Amino acid sequence: MENKIVAAVILDNTTRSYDKVYNYLVPESMACYLETGMRVMVPFGSGDTAKVAYFLDFIAYDKKFDKIKMKYISELLDDEALVSKSMFRLARDIRDEYFCTYGQALNAMVPLGLRISVEKLVLLEDGKLIPFQAYLQSAPGGIKQINEEIKENRIKIVEQGIRNMKNKFEKAVRLLILPSEINELIFKDRIKNEKHIRVLELLAEYEDITINDFASYENISRNVLSTLEKKGYIESFLKPRKQDEQNVPDIAPTSTEKHFTDDQKYVIDRISMPIQEGKYDKFLIHGITGSGKTEVYMKLVSEVLAKGKSSIVLVPEIGLTPLMVNRFTQRFGNNLVVMHSRLSMKERYSAWMRIKRGEVAIALGTRSCIFAPFSNLGLIVIDEEHDGSYISECTPKYHTNFVADRRAKEDGAILVLGSATPKVTTYDAMDKQGRVLTMSNRALGKLPDVSLVDMRDDTINGHMSVFSNTLIKEIEKNIANGEQTVLFLNRRGYSSMQLCTKCRTVVKCEHCDVPMTYHKGKDFLVCHYCGHIQRKSGICPVCKEETMMECGAGTEKVEAELHELFPEASVLRMDLDTTGMKNSHRDLLEKFENEKVDILIGTQMIAKGHDYPLVTLVGILNADALGSGLFYESSENAYQLITQASGRAGRSDLKGRAIIQAYNVDSPLIENAIKQDYQSFYSTEMRIRKILDFPPYTSMAIIMFTSMQQHLADENAAVCYNILHNTGMTVFAPSRPQISKLNDKFRTRIIVKCKDPKEMKDDLTKAYLYMAKKLPKTVTMGIDVYCNEF
Ligand code: ADP
Ligand code: ZN
Repeated sequence: MENKIVAAVILDNTTRSYDKVYNYLVPESMACYLETGMRVMVPFGSGDTAKVAYFLDFIAYDKKFDKIKMKYISELLDDEALVSKSMFRLARDIRDEYFCTYGQALNAMVPLGLRISVEKLVLLEDGKLIPFQAYLQSAPGGIKQINEEIKENRIKIVEQGIRNMKNKFEKAVRLLILPSEINELIFKDRIKNEKHIRVLELLAEYEDITINDFASYENISRNVLSTLEKKGYIESFLKPRKQDEQNVPDIAPTSTEKHFTDDQKYVIDRISMPIQEGKYDKFLIHGITGSGKTEVYMKLVSEVLAKGKSSIVLVPEIGLTPLMVNRFTQRFGNNLVVMHSRLSMKERYSAWMRIKRGEVAIALGTRSCIFAPFSNLGLIVIDEEHDGSYISECTPKYHTNFVADRRAKEDGAILVLGSATPKVTTYDAMDKQGRVLTMSNRALGKLPDVSLVDMRDDTINGHMSVFSNTLIKEIEKNIANGEQTVLFLNRRGYSSMQLCTKCRTVVKCEHCDVPMTYHKGKDFLVCHYCGHIQRKSGICPVCKEETMMECGAGTEKVEAELHELFPEASVLRMDLDTTGMKNSHRDLLEKFENEKVDILIGTQMIAKGHDYPLVTLVGILNADALGSGLFYESSENAYQLITQASGRAGRSDLKGRAIIQAYNVDSPLIENAIKQDYQSFYSTEMRIRKILDFPPYTSMAIIMFTSMQQHLADENAAVCYNILHNTGMTVFAPSRPQISKLNDKFRTRIIVKCKDPKEMKDDLTKAYLYMAKKLPKTVTMGIDVYCNEF
């Protein structure tokens, strides 16, 4: 028998049908360099298409290989391993739990800058390589000529893996029109989308912006840019990538530990034990806002550090405030990297590499930082564990708590979750395992006095303002005392709905099944889901009469009312319309603090993580309208937001107060939020979940079919329903979600419930694999899973 070396690989980019282990021969010269987690190029399928694959392991040569014609790995693409064995196992867990491919799971772990694309090149007789597209364009005979040249052996087509980061150029866009023409385009209704306006305005300001920066800072996709390019408003070009290495500034730690409170001591002692032992364990710190959780996290991180291990500290998307970063930097200096979605591709890449090379021991960041490539992880902290940004909204739709728990188990690390308002599912799971640690006092200051204003009284008295009389008086008091006020309203724009007073028609987006919001500053109706804009009209689209009325207030309207009510006061507004690109977020908050602005009004962006000593009054303007998110979690979300927002008040010696305005004042939810009584909220909520059979009493999944054609979404949902419906799960017939159309795509969903999570996973996997083969290209199928995370 020949001495052949065989490799097991999985494909980087493939569909679920091909998502399995393949065997290839390893060229002898490559064998000594190859390590688990490196990427290679392999010829795949009958056409030998070049594909990028991950090398898993060597396997023993087996007789069965003699019978098949085995191919060789064609190229080694990495010079060091990208993912470790334990990260592979984590990828497998994610793949199995959230229905995706290995490649998708691995891509969620590895930064964009490290992905590899396959480039097609033409090899000339003299050895020169020319990009295929360029060669095609210069060949007068087109593809026919090329095929002939190949036949005559004059040229060869080769494929090469290109690592994005190594490309000397990156794609950027710039304006083709004059900045002064933008307004005219808007005025003449030539632009129909808020995002398009945003792109043009930013390009007018910055001259050119890379496609990656648009994606990471502004969440603007390639599609948006190519639409504008097709219209001739912008052009794309290749821009030389800046090659200068980022210099890491030398920061020495300046802050030291506080003298801990009794609550803090108790929690630290309890968690220190398993840290000293270096064994996997998990805890939930249930500590009210301002109880000193962050100080506890920092203490735990330094204990882990002393053991020679690393830590990952996760914070919600909007919780990663400059304040948070400063506190950690002051304590740990250079031993820390910050990772979040607003980093450019290059910044993210270099943060990732610093971790991988062992140059730092702490990573502070948002969701995807859970994949920080530490090899000696000792601690994972998830602050505000209930936050919605911990659930990934693109494939794989993983829940960070689940991934963190798996990773902690895999690496023998401690998982610490913290929240003033934990998810009831988390609380339930941790409580059952005796792992809840409670902190019920503030380290500094006191919890604010919370009071409720019944808005029905004010409305009945003919007071049509967004503000109740009570709140107006309190704001007046604060202005007079030189103290700051924060007002919270979960809706941007001016008015939230255009309603016909006669036929009750609501103006909806052409592309989505949602009402349009009026933005006064821009004088447009805007769809908050797809960005579509249109002119406001007083005429009802159905009655054709002048009967339209505006309802519901947004932050823009509140700001306008504030100026009328308190003309002397300084007011700052913070929402998606006033923030964007790198720093304006931070600039606004710095301005609020440094210039002692009287009133800050904002969306949930301001509800979390800020700590300003002079804020003594918090107003929550629309407590009834809170609670977005998944249907069964909406009261939980409302409770969380009210608690978080009111927790901004009274964080120093100055006593704080919070005023909640609501119409539905008798709901137990509002009652418990005012009493700030998590335990009663929790038991009420658990009772309701039990009656309605929702998690944690059952596992649940939502299977969503989307298509531009409604009948295709419906038909495929029906096929899937027929498969599922014969299983032991409870399966609800296909139905439309609350938003039945998004971005011109119709949505049909199937809800399943099952007491046994394993049974649910098996049944869903079967259906998923079956559908993956059947599904037409124009239909997508997505599965959201709500299982116990611990
Ligand atoms: P949480 O994360 O629970 O909201 P923080 O850790 O941010 O709480 O603490 C709230 C405030 O109390 C911060 O200003 C912090 O510096 C301060 N603080 C926390 N622990 C102590 C302590 N032991 N002694 C004095 N001040 C403390
Ligand atoms: Zn829309």
